[in-house]
Amino acid sequence: MNKKAIGNYRRTREILDQYGIHAKKGFGQNFLTDLNVLNGIVQAAHITKEDNVIEIGPGIGALTEPLAKAAGEVIALEIDTDLLPVLDDVLSPYDNVKVINQDVLKANLPELIQTEFSDPTKPIKVVANLPYYITSPILMNLLASQVNWDAICVMMQKEVADRLTAKPGTKAYGSLTLAIEYQMKAKTAFGVNRRSFVPAPNVDSAIVVLTPRKQPLAVEPFDKKRLFSLIRGCFAHRRKSLWNNLKSLLTNDKDKLAIVAEVLEQLAIDPQTRPEQLSLDQFIQLANAMHAREI
Ligand code: SAM
Repeated sequence: MNKKAIGNYRRTREILDQYGIHAKKGFGQNFLTDLNVLNGIVQAAHITKEDNVIEIGPGIGALTEPLAKAAGEVIALEIDTDLLPVLDDVLSPYDNVKVINQDVLKANLPELIQTEFSDPTKPIKVVANLPYYITSPILMNLLASQVNWDAICVMMQKEVADRLTAKPGTKAYGSLTLAIEYQMKAKTAFGVNRRSFVPAPNVDSAIVVLTPRKQPLAVEPFDKKRLFSLIRGCFAHRRKSLWNNLKSLLTNDKDKLAIVAEVLEQLAIDPQTRPEQLSLDQFIQLANAMHAREI
C-alpha cells in the first residue's frame, strides 16, 4: 500500500484537513480513497505514455496522480476554484499535468485539445470519476463534440452504467443506451462499492469503458436529430406500448398514424410491442421510413 499516494485514505484525510476542504454536494464531490480502484481505472483505460488524457473533475488529484504516471500528458478540468491551490501543491511533482479551472459542460473540447496538448495528434482518452449529478449531459457532450475519442473510461453510479450497457428487452434499456450505442461500444469494467469514497455516496458505482464502434451501423439514419426525437418519444411512457407512445408523439393525428401503421407492418414491427424490444437498427429503419413518408 502506497501511503504517500493522494488517494490513500489517511493522506486524503490529511489533505482535506490541511486545506480546510469540505466536499461540496452541489459539485458532486465524492473523493476516491481506494488505491486498487484508482489503479484499476488506469488499467481499464489502457493508458500508456503515448496517450493524451483529459480528466474531468480531478478533485484533490487522487486519480490525476496515477494518470500522470501512466500517460504522456494530462489536462484536468475542475470547476471548483477552492481545489486549485490543493491541486497546485499535491500535483507539483508531475510536470505533465495541467489543471484548468473550467466547467466541462462549457468547454470547447476540440479547441482545448489543439491548444493544450503538445502533440494533439496522439490518441485522446477521457478518464474520470464523474460528478454524478451531470453524468448524462457530460456523456452527451463528449459524444457530440466531434472528437475521435480513443476511449472514454468513466466512473458513474451503477444504475446509469447498467443503462449504458443494457440489452434490448431489459428494464435498463432506453434512449441513453441507444444514444451511446449509436457511436460507441460500452462495457462495464468493474463495480465499485460506495465505501471506496469520502464521503460515501448513497449508491454503488461502476466503471464503464466506451470505445469507438468497430462495425458501422447496418442502416444510416437520414436525419440523426429526428431519429433521437423519435427514440425519446417512443420511450416517453415506458409502460405503454410502442403504438400508444407513437400516438402521443404524433398528437393522435389520424392520417399520420394510418401511415405509421403501414410502415410498422412493412417493417414487421408489432405495434403492441414495448419500445424496449426494438433494436437501434429497427429505430433507424422506422425513423427513415417515417421520414420518407414525410412524417
Ligand atoms: N477525481 C476525484 C476523485 O476521484 O477523487 C474527484 C471526483 S468527484 C466525484 C467529481 C469532481 O468533479 C469534483 O472535483 C467536482 O468539483 C468536479 N466537477 C463537478 N462539476 C464539474 C463541472 N461541471 N466541470 C468540471 N468539474 C466538475
